[in-house]
Amino acid sequence: MAGTLEATEVVVPTSRQDAVAAFGDGGDVTVVAGGTIVVPEITHGRLRPRRAVLLGKAGLAHVTRERGRTTIGAMTAVSELEGLPEPLGATARNVADIEVRRQATLGGNLCAPPGVESPRGDLQAALIALGAQVRSAGPGGERTDPVEDLLVTGPEGRLVLEVEFADPQAGAQSSVRRPHAHAYTILNVCAARTGGEVRVGVSGAGPRAARCRAVEEAFAQAGDAEAAAARILDDVTPHDDALASAWYRSRTLPVLVGRALTDLS
Ligand SMILES: Cc1cc2nc3c(=O)[nH]c(=O)nc-3n(C[C@H](O)[C@H](O)[C@H](O)COP(=O)(O)OP(=O)(O)OC[C@H]3O[C@@H](n4cnc5c(N)ncnc54)[C@H](O)[C@@H]3O)c2cc1C
Repeated sequence: MAGTLEATEVVVPTSRQDAVAAFGDGGDVTVVAGGTIVVPEITHGRLRPRRAVLLGKAGLAHVTRERGRTTIGAMTAVSELEGLPEPLGATARNVADIEVRRQATLGGNLCAPPGVESPRGDLQAALIALGAQVRSAGPGGERTDPVEDLLVTGPEGRLVLEVEFADPQAGAQSSVRRPHAHAYTILNVCAARTGGEVRVGVSGAGPRAARCRAVEEAFAQAGDAEAAAARILDDVTPHDDALASAWYRSRTLPVLVGRALTDLS
């Protein structure tokens, strides 16, 4: 006999304020943005939302560029980011294929649950390099966090509203992926210089993207891209998954980091 399925309450907020109210403290809420990750989970029965908040009409899709700062709403499609400052533009162009990029959103990429089989938060690395600040709502109200802090604690329990960063003086991206339109990126390295400071982020070498402080410090001290890149395994611990082995990632990462740092100058 088939089991009883609990009905899902579906909420479609039509403003930012409504979205924040619908999310509340995040308990029992499943946020649905572009749905490229979450909808297959529901379809295959791995996720059974009690309350689904669909953000498509919440007015969170916008890009503003003013006085040297860029602000991007959480529901902005990845395809809309392709012309934005590097390394965000190049990273967006590198995600999947145009069908996925038009559907997938910035907020969904930032909040992508760590993939069992493959990494899926490339934009996180670009936002770390850009020193982005993330505005979110949830328990305790609205707050703003540096993106790397939000990724360390995990964005679960927060509704991401927008991200903001100062436009960099230079940005560079270096990645590796299989030559197939539907393939996921294996590794993505992003570097940016903003206000004289160089920051580096890597995705695909852990459950979420990480800021690479050892690389940054070495580069700030000596300005030698290759020597700084050799420090990358102090910052991340590569893993095996369906896309590549930890061994392959460990060998490839210093090359990608070196390229990104060299391309900055
Ligand atoms: C064929 C294919 C290839 C792909 N290739 C890549 C790739 O190369 N690189 C890559 O990075 N990704 C890749 N992805 C993964 C995915 O498309 C992206 O990460 C995408 O940006 C997710 O956005 P979304 O809006 O579809 O997220 P959704 O599926 O809607 O949501 C993803 C998660 O984030 C949560 N969420 C969404 N928005 C918010 C918000 N505003 N606040 C709080 N939580 C939120 C959801 O509840 C869910 O847990 C690929 C996916 C497919 C299907």
